Amino acid sequence: MIFKNKKLVWVIFGVLICLNVITWVVIYDLSRVGDLEVVFFDVGQGDAIFIETPQGHQILIDGGPDLTILEKLAAEMPFYDRTIDLIILTHPESDHYFGLFEVLKRYEVENILWTGVVRDTAEWKEWVRLIEEEGAEVRIAEAGQRITIGKSDFPTILEVLHPFENLADQKIKDSNDTSIVARLVFGNVSFLFTGDISKKIEAKLVEQNNDLDSDILKIAHHGSKTSSSLGFLEQVSPEVAVIHVGENSYGHPHPEVLANLEQFGIQVLRTDINGDIKIVSNGKR
Ligand SMILES: [Zn+2]
Repeated sequence: MIFKNKKLVWVIFGVLICLNVITWVVIYDLSRVGDLEVVFFDVGQGDAIFIETPQGHQILIDGGPDLTILEKLAAEMPFYDRTIDLIILTHPESDHYFGLFEVLKRYEVENILWTGVVRDTAEWKEWVRLIEEEGAEVRIAEAGQRITIGKSDFPTILEVLHPFENLADQKIKDSNDTSIVARLVFGNVSFLFTGDISKKIEAKLVEQNNDLDSDILKIAHHGSKTSSSLGFLEQVSPEVAVIHVGENSYGHPHPEVLANLEQFGIQVLRTDINGDIKIVSNGKR
């Protein structure tokens, strides 16, 4: 009997130690201040970008082609954190939104930004059903929108550069050129996210004299030769280009795109070679 009680005491003691550790983890996590983190997840042939602002706001741009995103999020977010502040769907293609279906089921998503274009596929219907069910604030992206994330004198700002007009309810067959293009600015550091836009949209962005200059460029359409024109690369003039790419039969990334990047001396990081790519910035470097 005495032995049994002793065992019980040790079990209680063990539980208390665990609780204490969990409390410390929570306190430690909340008190963290600091850097902007942008992670380009290796999700194979598809896009999934996770952003955490210095104030701890979490944004997910696209969700990749399968359920890999769930492990990736679990590794970046603490287990007790089940909310995502903003999900951006650049365009409704499988390699960008399939993974988001399960994210919507498992996380509480507060805001969703997408284009509202209509497609005649079962996947598209599932997406629309899930975002209605989510109860999130759903917004339609349009050039000129400026989202300030975090109430501080050093906020993170997201500028929407494309679509040029509200595309809600428009029937689309190929949605690549409807992709949301957005520029993320934190202090002196900027990122340009381009979805799967082609050279046609790149040229219009340049023509409109948008401030495209960015330190890090997410190469459009997995390094396809139908994107990343010299004129566009010159305007953006990034230090680093990230190519979201996995095993594929399209020949992505195309040698011509890699040659263009080399010509400008732009450092290339690829998810198929480098795995997950995490870029951390204090707003200066
Ligand atoms: Zn794609």
